[in-house]
Order: sequence, then C-alpha cells, then structure tokens
Amino acid sequence: MGDEYVDNDLSAYSGKPRPEYLRLLEDLRSGRRDGVIAWHTDRLHRNPTELESYIAVCEAAGADTRTVRSGALDLATPQGRMVARLHGAIARGESEKQSDRLRRKFQQMAEEGEPKTNGPRPFGYERDGLTIREDEAAVVRELADRFLAGESLTGLTRWLNETGVPTPTGAPRWWGSTVRQCLGSARISGQRAYHGQIVAAAKWPAIITPETHARIRRVLDDPARKRLRTPSRYLLTGLIVCGRCDRPMISHPKGGRRGYDCRRDSGLGGCGGTSVIAEPVEELVRDQVLTALDGPELETALLAQTEPADDEHRLAAVIEADRLRMAEISELFADGVMDRDQFSHATRRVSERLQANLDQLTAGTDHRDLARHIGRGKDLRAGWEAMALDQQRAVIRAVVASVRIGPVQHGGRFQPGRVSVHWRV
Ligand SMILES: [Zn+2]
Repeated sequence: MGDEYVDNDLSAYSGKPRPEYLRLLEDLRSGRRDGVIAWHTDRLHRNPTELESYIAVCEAAGADTRTVRSGALDLATPQGRMVARLHGAIARGESEKQSDRLRRKFQQMAEEGEPKTNGPRPFGYERDGLTIREDEAAVVRELADRFLAGESLTGLTRWLNETGVPTPTGAPRWWGSTVRQCLGSARISGQRAYHGQIVAAAKWPAIITPETHARIRRVLDDPARKRLRTPSRYLLTGLIVCGRCDRPMISHPKGGRRGYDCRRDSGLGGCGGTSVIAEPVEELVRDQVLTALDGPELETALLAQTEPADDEHRLAAVIEADRLRMAEISELFADGVMDRDQFSHATRRVSERLQANLDQLTAGTDHRDLARHIGRGKDLRAGWEAMALDQQRAVIRAVVASVRIGPVQHGGRFQPGRVSVHWRV
C-alpha cells in the first residue's frame, strides 16, 4: 500500500515548510515506505542540503526513487547521486533566474507607477487599483483627519467596526493593523511605493495629499510611539499646565481619586507647587468648550484668522504631538508602567526634538480641526458620554490651546476661578 504526499501551492523554492514532505521523510525513516514516485526531482527537494538529507534517508531505508520526468534516481551509487545533485543544481538555477526576472519586472512596474496586481483590493479603490471608490475614499479622508487630530488607531478601529464600514477583503471586522496599513500606505496619496520606499508618482488618483501622507507617516514611524501603544487615559493630558511654572501637569490615580499635579520628578522640569482634582476641571473645560463651539465668538475669530504658512502648520503639529507625548510618558512612569531607564530613554528623544522645533517656531496653530467642530456643540454634548476618551480629547484639543491652573486661593474645595482656558483662536 502506498500513500500520497501533497504539499499544494508550496513551490519547491518558496522556503516555506512542507508538512507532507516531512511526513514522507519520516515514513521512509521508519520503514513504512520503501520507495518514492515523484513527478520530477525538483518537486522533492528544494536545495542541496535537502537533497543530501534525502539521500541519507533513502540510503538508510534502501528506498528507490522514480520520477516521471527525470526517470529513476539511483541514489545507491556515487554516479547516481552525482546525477541527482546535478539535476538539483540545474533546477535551482532555472528557478533563481526566473524569480530574478520577476523581481526586475515588479520593480520596473513600481517605478512606472503601475498598480500592484496581486494582493487584496486596496481600500478606497476598485479592483483595477486605478479607480476611486467614493464611499470608501470619504472614509479614508475622515480617518486621516481624525488620526492627525490626535485620535488613536485603537479608537479609529473601534469607530470603523461600530459604524459597520465593510473591510476591503470581506473580513468580518477591522483590526488595528489593517487600519494602520490603510492609513499609512503611500497608495492613498497617489504615490507608488516599492519595498516601503516611494519610487514614483502613481498612475491612480490620490485620496489624500502627499503632505498629509508625510504627516501621518511621521506620527506612525515615531520611535517613541512604538513604546506607547496604550491609549491615552486622561482628558487634559498635554493641555493642562501649572500656573506657577508653565510646565505640563500630569495626572495619575492616587488614593482612589485622580488629580493633575505639577511634579518635580516627572522629567518635565515642574516646580511641584500646583495640584488640582481632575473631575471638576475636566467637566468645567468640557462645558466651556461645548458652549463656545455653538457661540459666535469662536467662529468670528476663526474667520478673522489669517492662515499660517504650510511649514508652520507642520511644525506646530509636530510640537503639539511631542508635548502630548512627553506628558504621556511621564504619566506612564508615574503609574509605574515604565521603569526609569525606559522613561529617560523615551523622554530624551522626544525632548531633544521638541526643543529644536520650538526654537524654530514662535507661533502657529492648525485650525482645520477646529473648523470641523464649529456649530456642533449641542450634538457633541448629547453624545459626549458615549464618545471614546480619544474622541473627546480630539474635540477639546481642537479648540483649546492650554488650560492653566492658578494657585489655591484659600484652601478647601475646588475653585473654578483657578482654571483659565486659553483658546486656539
Ligand atoms: Zn509648577
């Protein structure tokens, strides 16, 4: 009795494990089989090393090998083994030549801006890779906007799943990695990448601009970000500053109650002199923001604003992201999530860049995010509790430049007079 050993679709040269081939070897070794019939020797072994172990197994088992295309393989004599080795070498050379040709062809296609022809349909485009799908393109634009406004990949993934946006592959749900891949791809900005490098302007139309793509990549590729996958946990982190020293205050739970503190040991250079309970400040800021969004002042101020130059835009966004990151790093340290080494490593990188960027920029804010929310205060208030913390933060950060906490006036209860909100316009 014989058996069939089939490793479907696994080319003898792909380098992937072939479970059936391994079972065949095992059966030869154990003596369950004493002969092999194959289509061609190049279906049996993929490289000289595999051939040598195949020879050893067959020799020990006294097994015969016959192939349809290359006849009997006589592994019992030195001449026969040499023939087998030659067959192998020739087949391998052919295969390498062929994959080299393919590689060159793929590279050339990329450099000419042609779409990829394999893989799943790209989100935002039809199967041909050249035609935009408007409904999906709208989703891509919203993803890019919200991501750059500070929402996390986790938050955006949840949003896609909750609103039931279909995945391009037909998979039942979105994953963070799929969202990351879609958002970070050069393709949606009308650029062709090859092995992670942009090599050409693509033949298909863009959904977002190359500048937006570059901004997204800067955030995604930031090494500090990789350490900080945890979503933000506090509403005002990165916005709330000490009224005495102007340094960011950080929040962490203590004694069952959250507070924001200016800390001397946070690495942010704080004076350690200000402390406030979190909830009432957060509520007060939220109310002021939602009320302001529906009032005339923000809109008037926004319209009167002259647009800052583009590189100012970019710099301001980077600085803001870094400020937030510094405060988040400090919170992780204060909460004991990060040890001192990780902490100083992470803060050094971010603070160096932050300082360099601050030196370059004296003023400049991005007002696009604010414009999105104008007039929506009532809606946002109604849905506030149901919003993810990331979304809430994105709204607050679109409108508020900073929240300063002044000194305690006479001790005791929370004093709203200590809080002053500085608007972005
Ligand atoms: Zn302080």
